Amino acid sequence: MARNIFIFNPGPAVLPESVLISTSNSVVNFADTGMSIMEVSHRAKEFDDLLNDTIERLRKVMDIPDNYKILFLQGGASTQFAMVPINLLTPGKVADYIDTGSWSSKAIKEAKKIGTVNIAASSKDQNYTRIPDQSELSLTPEAAYCHITSNNTIYGTQWQSFPQTKGVPLVADMSSDILSRKINVSDFGIIYAGAQKNMGPSGVTIVIIREDLVGLAPENTLTMLNYVTQADKNSLFNTPPVTAIFVVHEVIKWIEDQGGISEIENMNNKKAALIYEIIDNSDFYRGTVEKGSRSKMNIPFRLPSEDLEKEFIAQAAQKNLIGLKGHRSVGGIRASIYNALPLEGAQKLAEFMVDFQKNNL
Ligand code: PLP
Repeated sequence: MARNIFIFNPGPAVLPESVLISTSNSVVNFADTGMSIMEVSHRAKEFDDLLNDTIERLRKVMDIPDNYKILFLQGGASTQFAMVPINLLTPGKVADYIDTGSWSSKAIKEAKKIGTVNIAASSKDQNYTRIPDQSELSLTPEAAYCHITSNNTIYGTQWQSFPQTKGVPLVADMSSDILSRKINVSDFGIIYAGAQKNMGPSGVTIVIIREDLVGLAPENTLTMLNYVTQADKNSLFNTPPVTAIFVVHEVIKWIEDQGGISEIENMNNKKAALIYEIIDNSDFYRGTVEKGSRSKMNIPFRLPSEDLEKEFIAQAAQKNLIGLKGHRSVGGIRASIYNALPLEGAQKLAEFMVDFQKNNL
């Protein structure tokens, strides 16, 4: 198929071509059942095998210890903003939140509806252009958990090393950098992510939760908002997002074929370096993030004027470089260079940036 389009969308985002092909085949005939993946029963053996294989492969590729459950839920990462406090922020407890951008703020807003929240640090005063240092965190020693957003999709900042919470479970919204770099899962109590950036299509949310954090919700918690419900039923309490899980399965296989997460990480480093190098060697492009906090997934930058930014986006699109508009809340340009964007895509963008600068100085 060899597409000649490079997709820089922030999410839903680019998927590997091989995944698009295997998915389209399964839309017609899934696992030789003669049925579409959209027609097969979620109680069928073929789907059960797929679900368990997805869990096994994800466990292997992320090195997830056995005492963590892997759940496939619905409602997006936004529902996790509520489920985390509903399950863990029980009466009398405090939760620490580190505010590094819009998504953190949304998580905080939900938690405050449930219980007591301590903002352990915030970079709001600095327009979210950096990630706070460990020395800036005022953590609660007995907190129920400490919540972070590992990569801030809108502002383009990313935790380079995670906060030390001294035994307090670290809960991370990894929606926009899961599977992009090696992490030590046992440093976390919960990792959650909407799939639609690095893992698959929208419609499925992955929750990786340490077993001792399942079952803490108050008894009157609504069934679908209690982690126990899906943890006890291997995500099959109700109809799961079957097709989306299929795509996640294919994405994990693609990661294996690339050589696993360490190879993906190497490639992500290369892609990000190509773009940052141009920003750093130019007076025309201006990065908006402190160097030590830069994201390798979402690279925001500004041009000398908004008119030039509009022109940049339009001309890039003519060259099949799609999705470069910054988030509506911050403006400018944002290059989202998730796992499935090929190196060639970053190279093409870098070349375009050089040419555009030359033509508009
Ligand atoms: N968290 C982060 C870091 C995001 O980037 C997004 C969406 O872009 C969300 C949460 C919201 O995810 P969802 O749309 O799956 O609720």
